[in-house]
Amino acid sequence: MRTVEKGIAPNVYQKYGDAKHDLAGRIGYYCSYCEMSVHNMLEVEHVHPRANGGADLDWDNFLLSCKYCNTIKSSRNLNRIGYLWPDQDNTDLAFEYNSANEVSVKTGLTGTLAQAAENTIHLMGLDRLPGHAAPTPADTRWRSRQEAWDKANRSLNNWRRAPIPEMAAQIALSALESHYSVWMTVFEGIPDVLAAIDLEYGRFGLFKDRDAAGNRVIRTNGQI
Ligand SMILES: [Zn+2]
Repeated sequence: MRTVEKGIAPNVYQKYGDAKHDLAGRIGYYCSYCEMSVHNMLEVEHVHPRANGGADLDWDNFLLSCKYCNTIKSSRNLNRIGYLWPDQDNTDLAFEYNSANEVSVKTGLTGTLAQAAENTIHLMGLDRLPGHAAPTPADTRWRSRQEAWDKANRSLNNWRRAPIPEMAAQIALSALESHYSVWMTVFEGIPDVLAAIDLEYGRFGLFKDRDAAGNRVIRTNGQI
């Protein structure tokens, strides 16, 4: 799950839906949770659900969501506690994506952090694949992610044939299409391409700040 930084509120909103394009301008037209590219039907999602006392018009309570993640999440979380959030935690360090198209808790996470990651997966149903008990056939997130796997693997073959900066740049443009974490997984260990992908996503709120010692910055209320 890509870590994002929305920055400060660019406007005051009378209706939460009015924040959609401001949000997308900051963090891109992607679902903040499943990383699917969504140009139609992208929804402003209240991290702390309104039904549970979450602020209706507060920029800090907004993320962007596809209709699947938003519907499954609904108002099942009482607040932010007990989960990981891409605008607060370094969520790119918390989950694992594998070539069987599975999404799971990052190996090595333990204790409350592992539990929060697990809770987050279940809150949005991020691990749903065909055969899962809960999803409706309409839930196509897994298919979108599979397409990213296929494209990223074909791009990896291209890189092996021509490992040059221009190819890295072109792969990064392809990666912008969808599913940041899949691309980062496929190109793990190839810093030239990873840096090129981060450079592109940097235009869409990617947050990977490091402190003077080179460690990732943990933000206010962040757990990882
Ligand atoms: Zn989603």
